[in-house]
Amino acid sequence: MHADALPVARAPESAVAAVVPTGPQTAKQLRFALTDAAGFSKMPKPRAGDWLASFKEPGQSFAEYLRSRPVRARPGQDVLAFQPVGGFCETQRAVVQATIEFAGVWFDLKTRTLEALPLPGADWSRQRSFSWVDEPVTQYLTDWFLDNALPPQRPDDAVCLVGVTAGDLYPEPGWNYVFGQASLHRRVGIYSVARFFAKFWGREETPATRLQALRRSFKLVVHETGHTFGVEHCIEYECTMNGSNSLEESDRGPLHLCPPCLRKLHVNRGFDVLERYRGLLALYRKHGLEHEARWTLERMQRIATVP
Ligand SMILES: [Zn+2]
Ligand SMILES: [Zn+2]
Repeated sequence: MHADALPVARAPESAVAAVVPTGPQTAKQLRFALTDAAGFSKMPKPRAGDWLASFKEPGQSFAEYLRSRPVRARPGQDVLAFQPVGGFCETQRAVVQATIEFAGVWFDLKTRTLEALPLPGADWSRQRSFSWVDEPVTQYLTDWFLDNALPPQRPDDAVCLVGVTAGDLYPEPGWNYVFGQASLHRRVGIYSVARFFAKFWGREETPATRLQALRRSFKLVVHETGHTFGVEHCIEYECTMNGSNSLEESDRGPLHLCPPCLRKLHVNRGFDVLERYRGLLALYRKHGLEHEARWTLERMQRIATVP
């Protein structure tokens, strides 16, 4: 489905290494992809301040995942819908558009972007001063999105509605900020890309900071939407479903699912794992996410060695 978006591989010195496996997965390859853990790092001991140093989480087995009766797309309710809220600068808009396309491939779902809604006024926001910028920053209360603004916008054919804003968010008065929050029973979530950009920190935007913002946005949206599909935090391997306490911690984590988490997403969505990786590879290459492209290609090649 996404394979035709694949750029032609450049004539390489190491032609063999650049070959992208083609064709659908075999049953053996699928089993291998969901169990083989070579190339995945076990979760290291948490550093001070890391998520697992702050929260003792038990993890979630495959059986527990099934028992939780997770949200699933079904015929007639199979669109991943996105709701932009407030304005975006050109750089932010490009990152959000790329993230939506990426999430569609990650979850193997059709996506739709709704027309933008305005941000709320003073009743649902506050001004905060930060040491690194002169102007105060407006922060928006997540309740407004989750309880008021997003639920009536969720299209009938949407499995969930993902709100995205460039405004900074807070979940309650005692908190400094939050990257996002979701309401599982309303099947809506709201995420902020504000802090992913150098601009927020009073610094100059460069190609490197734009790429970093893109990677952060990809990670946040598929992590949080993964929760919407019932996948809880991963404590076994370094994985996009690891909990994270800070930008620094999530920057350290990878943009891929470990085999147990991929198995949960697979039982939920039922995609062809090789086709999904081909789609992700095409997007990593398109956006210059070289580390992720290399990882994905190597993973596909390893799976393809199984008959
Ligand atoms: Zn999480
Ligand atoms: Zn995992």
